[in-house]
Amino acid sequence: MHKPALPAVGADTFNDQIRIVLVETSHSGNIGAVARAMKNMSLGNLWLVNPQSFPDETSYARSAGASDVLDRARVVGSLDEALEDCVLVMGTSARGRKVPWPVIAPPAAAGIAREYAGKEPVALVFGRENHGLSNDELQRCHYHIHIPSNPDYSSLNLSMAVQVMCYELRMHYLRSLEGGKESPYLKSMVEPGDEGWDVAPATAGDVEGFFDHLEQVLVDVDFHRRNNPRQLMTRLRRLFQRAKLDQMEINILRGILTAVQKSAGTNDKTNRDDASVPEQDENHV
Ligand code: SAH
Repeated sequence: MHKPALPAVGADTFNDQIRIVLVETSHSGNIGAVARAMKNMSLGNLWLVNPQSFPDETSYARSAGASDVLDRARVVGSLDEALEDCVLVMGTSARGRKVPWPVIAPPAAAGIAREYAGKEPVALVFGRENHGLSNDELQRCHYHIHIPSNPDYSSLNLSMAVQVMCYELRMHYLRSLEGGKESPYLKSMVEPGDEGWDVAPATAGDVEGFFDHLEQVLVDVDFHRRNNPRQLMTRLRRLFQRAKLDQMEINILRGILTAVQKSAGTNDKTNRDDASVPEQDENHV
C-alpha cells in the first residue's frame, strides 16, 4: 500500500512510524488536545477514522500551537484503511472484555511499539468518547493496552489516554538515548525473540485476508456456521494474533487453506483472487 509521505514536525521528531489512530471521535476539541499531547512528546502522525467534525475551529483552538499535527492528520473512512500497512496494532481499552486478550501496561506497550516502529508502521488505536472500541475493532489488535486506572472510575478522557501513551513512548525513547538496549529496564520491556527475525512481519491487511479465508474454509467444511458463530472466530483470531504472524507464515497458512478447499472440492465456489496457493520458499518452510 502507498505510504503517505509526511513532513517532519519540529527538530526533535520522534518516529513517524508510530501512528496514533482515533476512531470516530465525537468532540473535535479532543482531536486538538490529542495533537497537542502528541507534539509535546515529539509525535506527529495522527490518523482519524470518521471523525464527527474535522477540521474545525475547536480542534485548532484546543491544539494550542500543534496545528501542524492537525494539518498533516490523515482522515480515512475505515479502521482497516488506517491499519492496512501496520505490522503491529495495539488497541487501548478502559475495561476488560468477554474474551480476554493479551493485555499490557503502557510502559511495556511503549517498548514493543518502539521496537517494531524501527522497521514498519505501528498503530496505537483509541476509541470513541462514549463507548470506546467495539469488540470487532479490538480483535484487530495484537495487544490491548490498559492504563491501570481506578477500577471504579477507569475511563480517562480520550486525550489524557493518548497523553499517557505518548509520554511512555517518549520516556522509552529518552532512555534508549541514554543507555540503549544495554539498560536492564529497557531489556525487560523488549519481547524476546523478535530481534533479528528472518522474515518481515505480516501487515494487518495480510492478516485480515487470512482470517477471511480461514472463516470461509471453516464454513466450507461445515465446522463453522456464520448464523451460529459462537466465539469461534474470536478465539481463533486471538490465537493467531498471539503468534504475531510473519509474511511467510501467512503464505503457508493460506496455502494450506487453499489445499483444503481443493481437496474438499469447494475451491471453485469460494476461490477468490487472493486465495490462490502462494509460493513458498523451501528454505523457510
Ligand atoms: N466509555 C468508554 C471509554 C471511552 S474513553 C468505555 O467504557 O470503553 C475513550 C478512549 O480513551 C477509549 O476508547 C480508550 O481508547 C482510551 N482510554 C480511556 N481510558 C483508558 C484506560 N484506562 N486504559 C486505556 N485506554 C483508555
